[in-house]
Amino acid sequence: MEIQEIVYKQKDFFKTQQTKNIRFRKMYLEKLRDVILENEHLLYEAIYQDFGKSKFDTFTTEISFVLNDIEYYLKNLKSLSKPKRVRTNLVNQFGKSRIYSEPLGNVLVIGAWNYPYQLSLSPIVAALAAGNCCILKPSEIAENTMKVMAKIINENFPPEYVYAYEGGIEETTELLKLKFDKIFFTGSTKVGKIVYEAAAKNLTPVTLELGGKSPAIITKEANLEVAAKRIIWGKFLNAGQTCVAPDYLLIEESVQEQFLEMLRKYIQEFKYESGSEHYTKIINQKNFERLITLIDKDKIYFGGNFNREKLFIEPTILTNIHWNDEVMQEEIFGPILPVISFTNLNVILNEILELEKPLAAYLFTDNSEEKENFLQKLSFGGGCINDVMMHLGNENLPFGGVGNSGIGNYHGKFGFETFSNQKAILERATWGEPNIKYPPYSEKKLSWIKRFL
Ligand code: NAD
Repeated sequence: MEIQEIVYKQKDFFKTQQTKNIRFRKMYLEKLRDVILENEHLLYEAIYQDFGKSKFDTFTTEISFVLNDIEYYLKNLKSLSKPKRVRTNLVNQFGKSRIYSEPLGNVLVIGAWNYPYQLSLSPIVAALAAGNCCILKPSEIAENTMKVMAKIINENFPPEYVYAYEGGIEETTELLKLKFDKIFFTGSTKVGKIVYEAAAKNLTPVTLELGGKSPAIITKEANLEVAAKRIIWGKFLNAGQTCVAPDYLLIEESVQEQFLEMLRKYIQEFKYESGSEHYTKIINQKNFERLITLIDKDKIYFGGNFNREKLFIEPTILTNIHWNDEVMQEEIFGPILPVISFTNLNVILNEILELEKPLAAYLFTDNSEEKENFLQKLSFGGGCINDVMMHLGNENLPFGGVGNSGIGNYHGKFGFETFSNQKAILERATWGEPNIKYPPYSEKKLSWIKRFL
């Protein structure tokens, strides 16, 4: 079947109203959970082929996320879908006001390659929970994971409800010409703009989950040991190919030397090295070549070695970095960690303000004034104080960017809302209608209405 035909079939299927039934949604969410569990070994295998990634990392950063999302919606679907009663103002008495969450229709989810399962399936889970039909276009860059997701979905779900469409730029371009009720895109800011432009032609609402350069700031008031451990984990997990990884560090000069030593210690302790089952390779040759040009040999504090054949780049820390260095121009998205030192937190926060708004930002300190300053001054999608990336693991927090790092958000109830229309309903009683709002108007009516409104 042509993709266009499948999209039309989804539109027709949506009109049958079946996806609005809570039991129907739950049945398919349970089915998705079951087929993920049944095919867990295939999921591990595919991601190992694409990344050399361990089962442990695949489970904690990918599969567990999707399973938790499914459990969350199974548990909360009834209350999320229930019409919400809100207060009715004086003018609209006697009446009742309610908000109905209704599904948008047929949605398109375009995934990224770096956490292929989580970034493709979590939005799908939220979209199905909200009662939509979905087309998933996973990233072709992680080819094996794309294939296994397509197999799992297309063998277990009717295409008029959920369908995975394999392909790259050409296929995505084709999809973007079709009309959807929502497009949910995860990927680069550059492609995000292409998606937004295509969506605008049909006034299709979008959620854009994009990237950016996310800073981590370490002041002398921080618990340095904890900060170093958490930063090394967050930066080099998936070999730095994580949208919310700390892109670069800003370290208060007086603790820099001591802190760098701790960073080195944890890289070694975590065995982030060539051939290690705890460390991942770079996804492809193109990204590998891009990354190694960012390693300025004169600025290497740690690492800097690489192996082209194995697509391995050693965790690399660069020091004596300035804002105008090449490594500071674009999101790194790899295992290279540039360090800029500072002496005044206010000054460095002002410098960050000159850049595009990042997807995430992190501050390590025990000083409440510094925390307040950071929170008040910087705008970013989300972040942590005294940790990195873990805000994503709390389904009660929205996940998304701002400005160049994205539009909209998801996770938990925010995901449900992202794929729903909030339909506002006022139900009036048919008695007790004052004549005041109806013509003919008079000065007396105006003076009453002024008091009333
Ligand atoms: P990408 O923008 O190259 O690709 C994303 C998707 O768009 C893929 O499915 C791809 O097939 C499609 N695509 C690529 N070029 C296209 C084009 N010209 N026209 C139409 N479709 C096209 O991104 P990527 O390399 O997969 O991912 C890396 C980027 O994604 C990084 O910037 C990263 O920060 C960001 N990211 C963001 C999040 C988030 O949740 N905010 C998560 C992961 C990755």
